[in-house]
Amino acid sequence: TLPTIYVVTPTYARPVQKAELVRLSQTLLHVRALHWVVVEDAAAPTALVGGLLAGSGVPFTHLNVETPPERRRRPGDPPWLRPRGVEQRNRALQWLRETRAPGESGVVYFADDDNTYSLRLFEEMRSTRRVAVWPVGLVGGLRFERPLVAGGRVVGFHTAWKPERPFPLDMAGFAVGLPLLLARPAARFDPQAERGYLESSLLGGLVSPAELEPKADNCTQVLVWHTRTEKPKLRQEEQLQREGRGSDP
Ligand code: UDP
Ligand code: MN
Repeated sequence: TLPTIYVVTPTYARPVQKAELVRLSQTLLHVRALHWVVVEDAAAPTALVGGLLAGSGVPFTHLNVETPPERRRRPGDPPWLRPRGVEQRNRALQWLRETRAPGESGVVYFADDDNTYSLRLFEEMRSTRRVAVWPVGLVGGLRFERPLVAGGRVVGFHTAWKPERPFPLDMAGFAVGLPLLLARPAARFDPQAERGYLESSLLGGLVSPAELEPKADNCTQVLVWHTRTEKPKLRQEEQLQREGRGSDP
């Protein structure tokens, strides 16, 4: 039987949320043996996300945890100031450790709600033993970042931003074997991690860079893109709301 892929998605309320989740759900619908762990950045699960999941056709678990106010992004803060989705990903790790049996096979992938995922990516990550890695497109100020591979091993990284990081990888560029996560119960994302070091804060507790398993034809294929959705301009909406005839939320 195929190892289950646990796709962990933090998500938060904003006008494009439903569109992002519909698009992602319809990608995941094509993948066999997949379980979607959606963690809302909210004080309580919402009907919008709950209804979408229930109707998606994707096996799922619906969780929530609110980012504490002192770590939340404030309007006007540059997007890179604070890492986002950290408590939510850690909540999913806690759920996996509480509900999965030791020795159960599986692969854990952290999939933000706005990226673009090729179906081939999921077939590549399915064989993850400890930590698998691959290129990510449109990230780090480059067309792509990728691990450099020689003799089937990761020997370096094509990256321009903070190359001194122990794991200069985007969140979308790796997957972790479930047995390894269960065997290292203290491994988690550090909410205090310095900018750019969030991925390293988890991976540092799991493997050494030399142990990374290259996928996607020795990391020569881009199968996931760090796309970002433009914030829609709802200027007219605000005008109509002032007149008492805004669109029904
Ligand atoms: N996210 C969240 N709470 C927030 C902001 C973001 O849960 O306050 C989620 C978001 O839905 C996404 C992930 O965290 O799944 C990463 O956020 P974003 O895509 O904005 O980050 P970036 O693309 O800048 O890395
Ligand atoms: Mn994003």
